[in-house]
Amino acid sequence: MPYPLSKMSEKKWGSNTKHTRSKLIEVQIDKIVEILRKAVAAMQVPIVTEISQSRRSPFEILVTTILSLRTKDKVTRAASIRLFGRITTPHELIDLGESEIATLIYPVGFYKTKAKTLIEICKRLINDYGSEVPNDLDELLKLKGVGRKTANLVITLGYGKLGVCVDTHVHRISNRLGYVRTKTPEQTEMALREKLPRQYWIEYNDLLVTWGQNTCKPISPFCSKCDISAYCQRVGVAKSR
Ligand code: SF4
Repeated sequence: MPYPLSKMSEKKWGSNTKHTRSKLIEVQIDKIVEILRKAVAAMQVPIVTEISQSRRSPFEILVTTILSLRTKDKVTRAASIRLFGRITTPHELIDLGESEIATLIYPVGFYKTKAKTLIEICKRLINDYGSEVPNDLDELLKLKGVGRKTANLVITLGYGKLGVCVDTHVHRISNRLGYVRTKTPEQTEMALREKLPRQYWIEYNDLLVTWGQNTCKPISPFCSKCDISAYCQRVGVAKSR
């Protein structure tokens, strides 16, 4: 039985978050952001970031983020390109039909469930929001399969509004840095809303997701070649390269 999509974004991420320090040490977040901005410039950014940079479509960001749940970015990228090569609106997505959507987005994780969920979301967008994606966090959270990560991405990347989007990478790296001490992405979001300077709220996700995909990997991060190692407490990192 497929894992319910509504639970995917709430699943506990990563196992390497055991904390070895009893209290948080002051982390130089300004310096970390400054270094990461330069470091990620040459790296491939996540597909949702790419969409926001090229055409800022809330609908495409919403759909792509749902495709990305429990799926590698490379697979999401290809599926997203195939899907948006055929459709641009909620009406067109519904007209494709569940089976055709599933074929187009395969092999993203839970592709059959996601195909069904996308149709339900599009029906709701048409019936309740005039075919538009709502630009309000609470309204977005009412949509099937939309958790805080997805809703925050739509708000920040789709509408350019302030929000803190926390996925597995942001949660893991923020804890490793020693910047927060939390057990779930939701707790990390709340902790970051408290302490992360507002000017970094939107880009923090882009920077850490890109860093997590390339350097601060989940199992064995590349600490020996990490540009921010001098500012990282490496909390819970038992094995590194
Ligand atoms: S030093 Fe290691 S744990 Fe810290 S951010 Fe870099 S790769 Fe991640």
